[in-house]
Amino acid sequence: MRSSVRYPAANEILLTDCHLIDGVSDEPFERAYVEIRDGKFVASGPMSKAPRVKGLYEIDCQGRTVMPGLIDCHVHLVYAGSKNMEEAIRFPVETAVIHAVMHARAVLDSGYTAVREVGTIGNTSVAMRDAIRQRKIYGPKIVASGRGIGTTGSGNDLLPAHWESTGGRLVVDGVDAIRKAVRRQTREGVDNIKFIASGVEVHPTCFTWMTTISEDELRAGIEEAHRWGRSVAVHAQSYEAVKFALRWGADTIEHGTRLDEESIEMFKRSNAFLVPTLCTLYSVLLLGEKLGLSQKQRDEMKVNEPLWTGSIKAAYDAGVQIASGGDLGNRYPHGDNAKELSYLVQLGMKPMDVLRSATSIAARAIRRGDRFGSIKPGLEADFIVVDGDPLRDMDVLLDPARMNMVFQDGEMVAGSEWKEPREEMPIIRPPSCEGGHQH
Ligand SMILES: [Zn+2]
Repeated sequence: MRSSVRYPAANEILLTDCHLIDGVSDEPFERAYVEIRDGKFVASGPMSKAPRVKGLYEIDCQGRTVMPGLIDCHVHLVYAGSKNMEEAIRFPVETAVIHAVMHARAVLDSGYTAVREVGTIGNTSVAMRDAIRQRKIYGPKIVASGRGIGTTGSGNDLLPAHWESTGGRLVVDGVDAIRKAVRRQTREGVDNIKFIASGVEVHPTCFTWMTTISEDELRAGIEEAHRWGRSVAVHAQSYEAVKFALRWGADTIEHGTRLDEESIEMFKRSNAFLVPTLCTLYSVLLLGEKLGLSQKQRDEMKVNEPLWTGSIKAAYDAGVQIASGGDLGNRYPHGDNAKELSYLVQLGMKPMDVLRSATSIAARAIRRGDRFGSIKPGLEADFIVVDGDPLRDMDVLLDPARMNMVFQDGEMVAGSEWKEPREEMPIIRPPSCEGGHQH
């Protein structure tokens, strides 16, 4: 149970002597201050302009990095690092929820203050989103999807035919069925709809180069989602799936393993974001043998590697908006989300562009740019204080000892300098017991 005690208790905080990365600007600011009031950023600037008001709770950052809380646009909090998808989705909803609660804490501890869930078991990500919003449990702010929607035989249809379908994936065919699936998920309270438009490498018979949905089906799904005010993420690893998705206005393309000149042109003419998920690729290449992943999966990733890295590089060079997301829960454990940022640097992205892809650009990709993702007056004060400079060495974000403070809405909620409030648990009794027997 999350305590209602806040630390620090001040509702006005002044961060001083910051190495400030605001999530938007091209360059960091040295010796900067940031002022926070009632959970929102109020002002920032050089130390010489810092307010000298009594009653501000001052945190002397001593030159440490202050930057927006990180955002991961592609996570599955219910996945527990399973070896294959049969294993990942065979958990009952009850177990999935317990995993998700544990993983949410790990993600927050690693400096990620918001995530977009792109495929859950049952309706877990909506329940998680609401519990975190109501401060019942700790975790990142969540943009929630329901179960991924895909067709028979697709990367979504993973169980052998003689098994009953689980709560993990939604297998539907035809325009009407897809519209209905979207409508049901809106009723269940999702923010985002996830479609599976191509194969996945974990599937035994469905390959990433295959397009597994018809253009009519995907068009109907995207139209329906947008009609109900929901954003759309499309798993697209084939050339054609990317084009279907972009043609009909998908908000984000997940993975983008195969992009050609035409799809990059389409990207630039759209408002869509690319979520590369390089962790998916490298976790199979680097851990495949050790984890005993299937030969098909490992072989396919070897084929995909040059296509994938080439596609992301070409998109970056062409100015496509890249929002980072690691697809964690698959092989790499939750909490290692910042590995994705190191891979993006290795790929040749400028470190500042990588940090923007995990802050202001990520926030816009998940339609939350007006709420958080940069250190700007009026935005929610979600930020981290890091001992080290990720612009020089992105790996500092992976070191729990350097992740000193993690704040959400101006409240410290995690980090090596955070101490869990140790107040007594409140005793809650149902009303009928009041004044009755004590057990
Ligand atoms: Zn995924």
